[in-house]
Amino acid sequence: MSLIEEIIAQVKHRDPEEPEFLQAVVEVMESLEIVAERHPEFVKAGIFQRIVEPDRTIVFRVPWVDDRGEVRVNRGFRIQFNNAIGPYKGGIRFHPSVNLSIMKFLGFEQIFKNSLTTLPMGGAKGGSDFDPKGKSENEVMRFCHAFTAELFRHIGPETDVPAGDIGVGGREIGYMFGYYKKIMNNHTGVFTGKGLDYGGSLIRPEATGYGAIYYAAEMLATRGLSFTGKTVAISGSGNVAQFAMEKVNQLGGRVITLCDSNATIVDEEGICGDKCDFVMELKNVKRGRIKEYADKYGSVCYLGDSVWDVITQQGLKVDVAIPCATQNEIDGKNAEALVKNGCICVAEGANMPSTPEAVRIFHENNVLFGPGKAANAGGVAVSGLEMSQNSLKMSWTRQEVDDLLLKIMKGIHKATLEASEEYGRKGDYVTGANVAGFMKVARAMLAYGVV
Ligand code: NDP
Repeated sequence: MSLIEEIIAQVKHRDPEEPEFLQAVVEVMESLEIVAERHPEFVKAGIFQRIVEPDRTIVFRVPWVDDRGEVRVNRGFRIQFNNAIGPYKGGIRFHPSVNLSIMKFLGFEQIFKNSLTTLPMGGAKGGSDFDPKGKSENEVMRFCHAFTAELFRHIGPETDVPAGDIGVGGREIGYMFGYYKKIMNNHTGVFTGKGLDYGGSLIRPEATGYGAIYYAAEMLATRGLSFTGKTVAISGSGNVAQFAMEKVNQLGGRVITLCDSNATIVDEEGICGDKCDFVMELKNVKRGRIKEYADKYGSVCYLGDSVWDVITQQGLKVDVAIPCATQNEIDGKNAEALVKNGCICVAEGANMPSTPEAVRIFHENNVLFGPGKAANAGGVAVSGLEMSQNSLKMSWTRQEVDDLLLKIMKGIHKATLEASEEYGRKGDYVTGANVAGFMKVARAMLAYGVV
């Protein structure tokens, strides 16, 4: 058994009921096999064993009172995975599926993603199995306050700086930051994704979606291609999906799909202009369902099917796929259909949306495949820039932040492509991202001794 196989076996043995965490560990560790061969100093210092174990796992009760006066109890998490290169940093997810496995996979991925941005940020993730859907504004506020009433003691601007994720946008960050500020009597940059009036950064809402498209454009450019005239499938209709859609439109592509957890809509004419404004208003203000898009514009709507199932069943032709909903949404069957229908590029706006089998199929068919930890790193990169602006007590213009985001995404593309070549798998961005993200963290851990 190789060292890497031993580590995977150990994780399986220790955490048998954490399939998503194991999936992420296997993917990263398998690409690091060659790093272990070339760097005996990392092996000697136990870096590989240490990096798969979180620094700290915090699980807590979140009691709150609903509008009928009934006591509700949710479970809260914060996984402080690794702070070798900077304070812990990573989003908060509110979704009924949240559990320890999902939190740990996201925290683990975040270590390498944050390292790829070149900014000084460690890896973390948090969240709760609270479902904001169907809750009143007051219930969401009370829940966020109750969640922060425990979270506050574990975070701080130099310790751990949470942000948003699924189910957590500007509204929820406002409630959490407001509560933290009150009980700590301290107005400081402890959350990112804040409103512009109280320390937020321009371009933060756009950053993950824009960044994923900047990364995809760089991948396409390696084959002399661009978004102009391309047909693009996007899944989700939340923060990442909306701004990926906006950027594809700006670059001359045509977005034909969106979804939420109830339905997928297909609009072959392209979701652009007023239709984009409608989606943003529907999702961010009215908090309605994507089906209402089909009702308004008379487009096709598939209830209960994901974007990828619709593409598989209907044989829709797409050039580029940008999954922006959730983990494991594209399976092997979907990947085969995408390849068959002409897809040449997949950039993951979501975290781990492609199953290992899907990734294998993309690689075998020479599809440009950008894994989430590289392609969606723009969000945390601009969070890092928000932290810098908070420290400087200054704010940068929209153009300044967008220019920096583009520069960072180009840098990540270059670093991941070069690492894939250096480690013998040119064009395999999964290996490239894992290796490039790992090296800086490993060198820092080595410098500290065994801690
Ligand atoms: P949002 O909550 O804003 O949007 C999520 C979207 O995906 C919604 O349309 C939601 O539908 C849909 N969705 C969520 N879960 C499922 C599911 N199980 N099945 C079908 N559809 C689902 O989240 P974000 O846009 O912020 O996040 C999307 C992805 O991007 C996640 O994987 C997240 O980790 C990742 N990401 C986000 C970053 C950010 O800056 N926000 C940064 C980097 C990665 P519905 O409304 O019905 O729930």
